[in-house]
Amino acid sequence: MNRGDPIPPDVRSRLMDFRAELGNHPDRRAHDGYSRIATEQAIEGGLEGNAAIGALIADPDGLVILVERNRMFVPRFRSDFHAEMVLLTRYENQHGNQGDLRGHTLVTSLEPCEMCMIRIINSGVTNTLYVASDVGKGGITGPNTLAPHWARLAEPQNFAPADCSPRIADIALEAFQVTIGGIVDKMMARRLPR
Ligand SMILES: [Zn+2]
Repeated sequence: MNRGDPIPPDVRSRLMDFRAELGNHPDRRAHDGYSRIATEQAIEGGLEGNAAIGALIADPDGLVILVERNRMFVPRFRSDFHAEMVLLTRYENQHGNQGDLRGHTLVTSLEPCEMCMIRIINSGVTNTLYVASDVGKGGITGPNTLAPHWARLAEPQNFAPADCSPRIADIALEAFQVTIGGIVDKMMARRLPR
């Protein structure tokens, strides 16, 4: 790894390939556009030295109003800065008490983790779509059940896989998988004895 380059060359080259492929991917299914944008954000996050996960918010007319990505390590360590957290923090900072996510859609390149699932519930956003499933481990398809108050709050909210091309979902998952090993190594380095 070059000094100044946050990621190994093989990871960079995989991510660049994914970026090129997504750029040429035609939008065929209902959520291909959203899924491409969230996954492109994921790839940018990976290229910056963070975990490759991206997210967006679309307004009730379907217009994408905000995009964000994981920022846990770069520019500085923030243990809460998963893509969905950065996205919702930015939205809430911008809108204050005028913010209202009713009728809005949050799209994330990878199924939200438990932390982000609770944050999404607390935000009140009506729809959440995920491009790639975290297959039985995420906050939606995973084994954990919500406490009753959160389950009640989540009742009017919808959580579903995005209706996207399987190839976009594959890229979203693979981009995450090629970056997560390095991220976990960096996190382990913060807790093992010096
Ligand atoms: Zn998360």
